[in-house]
Amino acid sequence: MVSGTFTGFPARLDLPAEVVLLARTLEDAGYETWCVGGALRDALLDAGDNDVDLATAATPEVVRRLFRHTIPVGIEHGTVGVLDANRRMHEVTTFRRDVETNGRHAVVSFGVSLDEDLARRDFTINAIAYHPLRHEWRDPFQGGEDLGRKRIRAVGAASQRFREDYLRILRAIRFAARFEFTIDPDTWAAATEAVAGLASLSAERVRDEWFKGLTTARSVRRLGGLWWRVGAAPIWVPELIDGTDLPEVALEDRDPVVLTALLCLDPVAVLRRLKCSNQDIARAAAMMAGPREPVSTGVRAVRHWLADVAGASADLLLLARLRAGLVPGWAIIVSEVRARGEPVARKDLAIGGDDLVRIGIPPGPGLGVLLDRLLLLVLDDPALNQRDVLLQRAKDLA
Ligand code: ATP
Ligand code: MG
Repeated sequence: MVSGTFTGFPARLDLPAEVVLLARTLEDAGYETWCVGGALRDALLDAGDNDVDLATAATPEVVRRLFRHTIPVGIEHGTVGVLDANRRMHEVTTFRRDVETNGRHAVVSFGVSLDEDLARRDFTINAIAYHPLRHEWRDPFQGGEDLGRKRIRAVGAASQRFREDYLRILRAIRFAARFEFTIDPDTWAAATEAVAGLASLSAERVRDEWFKGLTTARSVRRLGGLWWRVGAAPIWVPELIDGTDLPEVALEDRDPVVLTALLCLDPVAVLRRLKCSNQDIARAAAMMAGPREPVSTGVRAVRHWLADVAGASADLLLLARLRAGLVPGWAIIVSEVRARGEPVARKDLAIGGDDLVRIGIPPGPGLGVLLDRLLLLVLDDPALNQRDVLLQRAKDLA
């Protein structure tokens, strides 16, 4: 995931045999085919192993004819998924040019050259191509030099490129934070100037950027700072903590929902605005509802807390750890309670509602109330969690 340093274009790139075979099939049929996109950038930075995308002169129809198993994953943009012998999918996209853009999406046309295809890409470091059979590099915008200088620079006229697709503003920030690159001054100026256009993007595209950024940034502090400095935070995440107060988070703790709760004053509002799944919104709401931590590190307090927060305990634990910068003292007690299998929810009780009905307690909402009272007893003393004991207590309480 984390990048190393660019040390020049290697003579050869190690590619999966399936990708080479796929390219050979297209080339043998007479269609120029190159590796492109983020996987090349990542390979050159020695950062992670993304799937390599292929760009080809063949039209989508031809690609679908040449391979037995294909999936039209983004056919209107010229992308066909080709399944290899192991049923792994590889994206093959026809060389294309944007003929119409409106800041949100583009209408594309085919029948263009590799260089034209590279020219419509966002940043120089994303506009490099490699020929998988001839082992040639193509780098018309000096993306290699920018990798070496650790710099995000737009392909062509930056302000025009951001107006074509405002999402590129957020992508620039994401790559800068992920690779610890600077943003070229012209590109940065154009981004800040175009930033109002972010308001016209769909919430879903912004959310994907927000989540990807949080997951991949080497420093979430820098990422958040850039969202403020470029002017994106006021538009999409005004609840984001101000740059200087942002905490830092280790790479292994990158749950985007928990991080939104850590970094934003009202995470539920943020996730709603970004049209996140109901499940993600519910997780944020549960974290906000708390209680944030047990009232003490005593085992009883911890059991009561686990019962109170139910499914949110893991999220709250991570959140507490990230807030404090260390594992809270009660975390070990949580693990011990779990390891001993002590009851912390209604469903853990040795009896259920039907058992209560069988001893003559009338069905209805009163059953739940009674079970909750029994749960309180076993939270204080797990040894009471036995059928006979609980049935006797239920009779006493009813
Ligand atoms: P990652 O997958 O790690 O987020 P990536 O660079 O591979 O990074 P993708 O969204 O997978 O990003 O896109 C693949 C390639 O398509 C990019 O490298 C870039 O060349 C091009 N691309 C993607 N989005 C845009 C965009 N909004 N404008 C212009 N080119 C884009
Ligand atoms: Mg990619």
